[in-house]
Amino acid sequence: EFSEIPLCPPDVVFGVLDSFNQDPDPNKVNLSIGAYRTDEGDPWVLPIVKATELALAQDVLQDHEYLPISGLTAFLDSSARLVLGASSTIILENRYAAVQTIGGTGAIRIGLGFLKKFSKSNVFYLPTPTWPNHNKILTELGAEIRSYRYYDVDKNCLDEKGMIEDLRAAPEGSTVILHGVAHNPTGMDPTKDQWKQICDVIKERSLTTFVDFAYQGFASGDLDKDAWAVRYFIEQGLNLFIAQSYSKNFGLYNERVGCLTVTCSSPKLASCVKSQLAVLCRTIWSNPSNHGARIVATVLNNPAMFAEWKENLRVMSDRLSQMRQALYDRLRVLGTPGNWDHLLAQIGMFSYTGLKPNQVEIMTKKFHIYLMKSGRISLAGLNSKNLDYVAKGIHEVITT
Ligand code: PLP
Repeated sequence: EFSEIPLCPPDVVFGVLDSFNQDPDPNKVNLSIGAYRTDEGDPWVLPIVKATELALAQDVLQDHEYLPISGLTAFLDSSARLVLGASSTIILENRYAAVQTIGGTGAIRIGLGFLKKFSKSNVFYLPTPTWPNHNKILTELGAEIRSYRYYDVDKNCLDEKGMIEDLRAAPEGSTVILHGVAHNPTGMDPTKDQWKQICDVIKERSLTTFVDFAYQGFASGDLDKDAWAVRYFIEQGLNLFIAQSYSKNFGLYNERVGCLTVTCSSPKLASCVKSQLAVLCRTIWSNPSNHGARIVATVLNNPAMFAEWKENLRVMSDRLSQMRQALYDRLRVLGTPGNWDHLLAQIGMFSYTGLKPNQVEIMTKKFHIYLMKSGRISLAGLNSKNLDYVAKGIHEVITT
């Protein structure tokens, strides 16, 4: 009966990782991974996370009972405060519905599933390019997927005009997916002025706004700065779907901690929305997992721990920006043809280098440097030992 099932090609990101792992070359460099690495190239357990885990392990009140379907209350409340700001009127008026999810991906899946079920429109807009899982989730949901122009690959900048034009042509009620900060894969975010224009079009066309928010604090090292666009949209009276992930900013990748927050026009509506989100959670994973959410809730609700977490965040974001600057400096010193200013205009973990697929292939085949076919590199994979080697690799593929 199932003999006709075709083989599905490997996930693009994890496929590159497999090839890297199989490569025996001693100089190989992995610039494909979307996870933080130290200057020694190792994963980093944040000291505040380790300390919290040790304390939780000693806590006799901890057990392994099911959590509520929608998750830990202390986690949900602090997640909403983190993204909206503690003094947000949405919080003061209790106008939001939040559920704990299995990572940022779970938040996206539940939020989009809700919209697929309840929105009058089946049209969903994604930026070109975007995180590939957006497309996959919407495809699984049977949504009508459309794209809006986002990045100009020839000029290495935001395609402001194209983006606004495409959103302006969106049918009323469509959902537009935005990356709240540190756009993946390009690392190129709209400026404040551009965000304002985007907000105007969304209002003009009555679009539903879905914010994928996977990098708060990880991008600039400043939690409030990274939440600027989200808070601006809220101030302008928009209600948002916000998918938060704690994978990057807490380094809790495999604990799968995320939160979906939906802001609503009234507390009554928020309760109804929450009840419906809980139905979706119940039918997909039933109850969320405890460990990671407990760590996040503990840290976010304790001022001293919160301050320490911010320090840890800075360590990561500072190293990433140093690597960004260092790569740029090396390319300038080598005299690599082209304008590399876009490297510095981009933020966060990723950079869209502008390398073309054939150049990426040479980088990998000849130099054993692994990056995405799109030319995206993860700055986390760079360190003081491999920087020169990577810069020379880029220089050679561009000049030969
Ligand atoms: N959204 C974007 C843009 C991402 O880059 C990622 C992770 O790489 C996610 C969502 C999902 O995060 P999580 O691992 O928490 O599911």
